[in-house]
Amino acid sequence: MRIDLHAHSTASDGTDTPAELVARARANGLDVVAVTDHDSTAGWGEAIDARPRGLTLVPGAEFSCVHIDDSGRRTALHLLGYLFDPDHPALRAERARLRGSRRARGAAIVANLVADGVPISWDRVRELAGSGVVGRPHIARALVEAGVVATVGEAFEELLSSTSKHYVRKDDTEVFRALALVRAAGGVAVFAHPYAVTRGPIVGPEAIAALAAAGLAGVEANHPDHDPAQRAALAGLAGELGLIVTGASDYHGANKLTPLGACVTDPDQFAALVDRATARQPVSG
Ligand code: AMP
Ligand code: FE
Ligand code: FE
Ligand code: ZN
Repeated sequence: MRIDLHAHSTASDGTDTPAELVARARANGLDVVAVTDHDSTAGWGEAIDARPRGLTLVPGAEFSCVHIDDSGRRTALHLLGYLFDPDHPALRAERARLRGSRRARGAAIVANLVADGVPISWDRVRELAGSGVVGRPHIARALVEAGVVATVGEAFEELLSSTSKHYVRKDDTEVFRALALVRAAGGVAVFAHPYAVTRGPIVGPEAIAALAAAGLAGVEANHPDHDPAQRAALAGLAGELGLIVTGASDYHGANKLTPLGACVTDPDQFAALVDRATARQPVSG
């Protein structure tokens, strides 16, 4: 069983449509794939309709969150929610609010770049995002198109990094609130790439322990952005805290180099995750 629990489609910042994503998942030999777009469930319907026979689909989303410690320090982090009720009113409203914040912040980053003479436009970025949730990868593609940088990755190294003078942060959901919402909607919450230091500051084991006490179900230990020591540290922590350990590619199509199935989840861990969902089950058969 090859199980990949984190992938993006054109409903957010991936480049495969949901239908292309599930077809590719099967073609790549996956048995289970989760569609986890940023702050959106818009890809679920198409992915379910296009699901090839034999592929199990796990509907999910990756929530943009912030952890605020006792001294007020803010750390951005991502929470994967699986198998929740997409119609739960408060969670649905929070996703809509996050998408609005992404639009305002995307426009602000583009305005900062334009003010500095960078030849891109917010209209073009919106076009590249289409009906999907706007993210920095769409700005990155506009920068590549305009010849400002050679690759999406290069755009993130400087112009779009969180330490860039052009950067504007989104108004992310406080992580304990996001966790409570996912659980209230009958879903299961997993901390995405907790130790991915290349993306910016991270929270430590104490914060993960506090999240576990508040109902976090698992940690995404096996992720392309974690080295072997980080994966081992997270697996050890999961053992101590009674958390599920997941693995996933965080596939984004052409926006990143990682293929689907680059990291996978153990079948026992997947079964434990599904067991904790109360709103819905994976789509299979
Ligand atoms: P945002 O959600 O708008 O803050 O943008 C963050 C997203 O950008 C992440 O979810 C990744 O999909 C993408 N990203 C971050 N760093 C890189 C990178 N170095 N290369 C390509 N994509 C990246
Ligand atoms: Fe992304
Ligand atoms: Fe993420
Ligand atoms: Zn992701």
